[in-house]
Amino acid sequence: MNANLTADRATFVTHLECSLTGERYEADQLHGLSAAGKPLLVRYDLDAVKANLPRPLLEARPTDLWRWRELLPVRHTADIVSLGEIETPLVPIGKSGGPNVLVKDEGRLPTGSFKARGLVMAVAMAKELGVTRIAMPTNGNAGAALAAYASRCGIETIVFCPEDTPEVNVREIAMQGARVWRVNGLIDDCGAIVGKGAAEGRWFDFSTLKEPYRIEGKKTMGLELAAQLGWKLPDAIFYPTGGGTGLIGMWKAFDELEKLGWIGPERPRMYAVQASGCAPIVRAFEEGVEHAERWEDASTVAMGIRVPKAIGDFLILRAVRESGGKALGVGDPAILKAVDDCARRDGLLLCPEGGATLAAYKEALRSGEVDEDEQVVLFNCATGLKYPMPEAPQALDRHQPIDFDAL
Ligand SMILES: *Cc1c(COP(=O)(O)O)cnc(C)c1O
Repeated sequence: MNANLTADRATFVTHLECSLTGERYEADQLHGLSAAGKPLLVRYDLDAVKANLPRPLLEARPTDLWRWRELLPVRHTADIVSLGEIETPLVPIGKSGGPNVLVKDEGRLPTGSFKARGLVMAVAMAKELGVTRIAMPTNGNAGAALAAYASRCGIETIVFCPEDTPEVNVREIAMQGARVWRVNGLIDDCGAIVGKGAAEGRWFDFSTLKEPYRIEGKKTMGLELAAQLGWKLPDAIFYPTGGGTGLIGMWKAFDELEKLGWIGPERPRMYAVQASGCAPIVRAFEEGVEHAERWEDASTVAMGIRVPKAIGDFLILRAVRESGGKALGVGDPAILKAVDDCARRDGLLLCPEGGATLAAYKEALRSGEVDEDEQVVLFNCATGLKYPMPEAPQALDRHQPIDFDAL
């Protein structure tokens, strides 16, 4: 077992709280949404964390996700089913990005995406609270992470994905022990099926933000980033936004770190990046409204952010506005060009959603929204290896004379 997982009493959770009304809910009980139908947020006794976890103690620990256990919800470390959730590197992309651009490459995590951060936490909590059967709608990566962690601890999973979900995702979900169904609709149509089954008591609903713990796992991106940058946050963060758990989670992480006295009140400008073929948050941001309407006929190569309606819309919009950032849309051609550019010039293979953040950054640079001198972090949330790549059809016949000059 990992050295970060040895203490048994790990957490300082006090209660859960409705993200809209502030209504309190008891910890250590199974919860979905609040009575108001909104996501629940986990609250901690941060004074006690501060007293029990001096920063040097944290810094002396191995750097994986579990070094943050006092700020995470799992009570009993025996309930953690780890596949090795490492700290992900910050990779400079000086050529395709610029001199002050870092990519947080989440593709190094188990199951090849940052969905592992959220699902390792949500599954550990489900196990702790006695759940035996889970269902989830997914565009691919979340289903794969759920399948892996749940199978590892003997929880049954049923996963529903849009019928055009990349083949590799559907197969990895199946191979890691889930029952996976392709549905002729989008992710929210899959979510409706999950919701119906949950209402009938068939399974526990693991949709984004409909259980409170995935966001706590995603929060570690913000904690980790602060530690990696010497407790000084970057000027701007570009985040590929679907359901928005990562952005909401990081925003929460920064507040908790400030309450611990580990960072000051400065915050990065948060840029929520969406594909222009599915940009409900961008539209709501531009209209100045608090909730986003469903985006009809959603379409983009960046499947992970093809989310027509996000239940945490108001939390995403709130964080973006408070931070002084924006919601930005980029087209598929710009996304594909950014992926290509980064791979060819910087040797880093992004996923399309990661490409979207690079494309949005370049556009923000052109429009003067960001300055080249500012330190910027782009999130690449999955390994580029899971996605289709252009063909490379050249073949060589070794029995014929070889024109070495032409190679
Ligand atoms: C899920 C996903 C996203 C969106 O993440 P949210 O936090 O749900 O907005 C972005 N990129 C990839 C590759 C994903 O799998």
